[in-house]
Amino acid sequence: AGGNGAMAMSPHVLIVAGSDSSGGAGIARDVETVSAFGLRSCLAVTAVTVQTHAAVEHIEHMPPQLIAAQMRAAFAANMVAAVKIGMLGTTAAMEAVGSVLTSYPNVPVVLDPVMASSSGRVLLQHDAIDALMSDLMPVCRLVTPNLIELAMLTGLTPALDEGGARLQGEALSTMLRTGVLAKGGHAREGLPAVDLLLQPDCPVLRFEAPRLGGEERGTGCMLSSAISACLALNATLEASVAAAKQYVFDTLSMSTQWTRRSDSG
Ligand code: PLP
Repeated sequence: AGGNGAMAMSPHVLIVAGSDSSGGAGIARDVETVSAFGLRSCLAVTAVTVQTHAAVEHIEHMPPQLIAAQMRAAFAANMVAAVKIGMLGTTAAMEAVGSVLTSYPNVPVVLDPVMASSSGRVLLQHDAIDALMSDLMPVCRLVTPNLIELAMLTGLTPALDEGGARLQGEALSTMLRTGVLAKGGHAREGLPAVDLLLQPDCPVLRFEAPRLGGEERGTGCMLSSAISACLALNATLEASVAAAKQYVFDTLSMSTQWTRRSDSG
């Protein structure tokens, strides 16, 4: 850590992700989530995006050496107890992140495979999916695709129900030899939001939550950051997913309540 200060010994979550000027998703969401679990964050910014809640107006990818240097400095400055990876954008960014992580094989990594914004803008270059699958996902403790991302990663058409999601999640988990949380929030309206946790050689675990109305942004960022924070606190993967789901549900319930109140007042 050099001569200008000791390493901070409180556990930190290293967030490797993009910024979102609207505050709806990305790093702002990640930091607030990690903070809600009582932990501090350190950062490697992968991309700067110019967004409103309705559209992505511009994306600036950070140079891969800059991403790797931020990660090395974050590891040198802090006790990094877990890593959360969000938007990566390019194959070069993935290679940079993967090469730093090989030096820290014991730190759990949660990867949210961010591919597009809710508004429809592509956030991951299409040719980067292969590199994501072959280089980065196998070193992760958990990857957290929604049903659209799961279909893109397996090359299948999006699952319409829980049975389909389970088959695709199992296929991906077997292929990568890592944990997969198949998020069912994009299933048909009217069905409950069921997330399935698939792990190699383990029975499937099912997490069900009531469906809340409304379209809150950044839920994928919140969930993966919350899981990383729980892993940093030494919880099991199953307990981490359960606590993270509860956190997202509580946060969404609170913001729905807020909207209702301001509508009526
Ligand atoms: N922008 C950034 C920087 C993100 O990391 C993400 C998702 O992780 C998004 C936008 C997409 O968020 P949303 O689906 O809420 O639009």
